[in-house]
Amino acid sequence: MSFSKIWVFVEPSESGVSTTSLELITAASGFASTVEAFSYGVGSEVGQILGEHGATKVVVAAGLNGVLAGTAVASIMAKRISAEAPDAIFFGSTPEGRDAAARLSAKLNLPVLTNVVNLSLEDGVLLSENAVFGGSEIVTAKLKSSGPGLYVIRAKSFAPENRGGSAASVEEVAVGDIGSAGKAKIVQSHVEARSGPKLDEAPVVVSGGRGLGQQDSYQMIEELAKLLNGAPGASRAIVDAGWVPYAYQVGQTGKTVKPTVYIACGISGATQHMVGMKGAKNIIAINKDADAPIFTIADLGIVGDVHKVLPKLIEAIKSRS
Ligand SMILES: Cc1cc2nc3c(=O)[nH]c(=O)nc-3n(C[C@H](O)[C@H](O)[C@H](O)COP(=O)(O)OP(=O)(O)OC[C@H]3O[C@@H](n4cnc5c(N)ncnc54)[C@H](O)[C@@H]3O)c2cc1C
Repeated sequence: MSFSKIWVFVEPSESGVSTTSLELITAASGFASTVEAFSYGVGSEVGQILGEHGATKVVVAAGLNGVLAGTAVASIMAKRISAEAPDAIFFGSTPEGRDAAARLSAKLNLPVLTNVVNLSLEDGVLLSENAVFGGSEIVTAKLKSSGPGLYVIRAKSFAPENRGGSAASVEEVAVGDIGSAGKAKIVQSHVEARSGPKLDEAPVVVSGGRGLGQQDSYQMIEELAKLLNGAPGASRAIVDAGWVPYAYQVGQTGKTVKPTVYIACGISGATQHMVGMKGAKNIIAINKDADAPIFTIADLGIVGDVHKVLPKLIEAIKSRS
């Protein structure tokens, strides 16, 4: 037995919609016969890609006028929920996704499961695997209450899949007056400068940690990432130290990455870091301490000083190309 309808909160990106949104649409279409997207800040062209991944309809919040996106979309969902009766609603574990889920839950008294890393359907009930204690434990949960459950799902929990569906229809809905919830407004937004691929989409990620010793050494991480057509990342220790911006952080309170190759340089492997990168296909760790926890999940470990290993690696790659 599968669900009849799942709604998915879909977020925009430079290329249309975010990869996480496509992951959620794909997952939802594995559980329900009808998948509908609720979005904002996108054009009607997204109907094509969302349709290919399994959605049949896209409802786009229009006329936000600076209102927070999660608030606007939650208000549209709240107005339609009883008439349209979705069985579940999926949100990405992003600032907007968490905001929308929290507001909808508070407004309509709906149950929420957060940090979802996997879902399966058993006897018509969604079983949800949720990461707890910084990802060191997984609990399996199911919702008993009637009414749609809200599932806040971590990035990279599902693979996006083009299922060849036809373009979804796109319906624009004016946000209108949302009362006091609309009082918080975006006054300025800023696009992070970036030259290579996005950290959470790059096939190769090279991350640096406190073992680099000083901010200047991060330049080796950037150089290696560039040579490998990858993205540079970081542990929270060096983000907190102000060496690199927060956008570089990998881990529980940073980005979740799942590249083909992840190279951890001078990173100890705290659980909060590993939860954000342990899904990488191949993990290479460079650390001078042979007992560093990162080696417990590394496919290839190099016990050595980053200041000696990285320049050699960079030189070797340069000489090949
Ligand atoms: C609620 C919470 C959320 C958190 N979220 C995150 C998160 O999202 N991401 C994250 O990364 N952390 C997070 N942390 C912090 C995390 O617990 C660790 O403190 C952090 O990951 C450590 O960063 P590090 O590995 O760079 O530093 P350290 O733990 O200090 O490790 C440095 C490593 O470098 C090695 N080293 C030293 N010198 C060299 C050298 N010359 N050559 C090679 N190796 C060398 C050392 O052996 C050591 O293993 C969080 C913590 C909390 C409490």
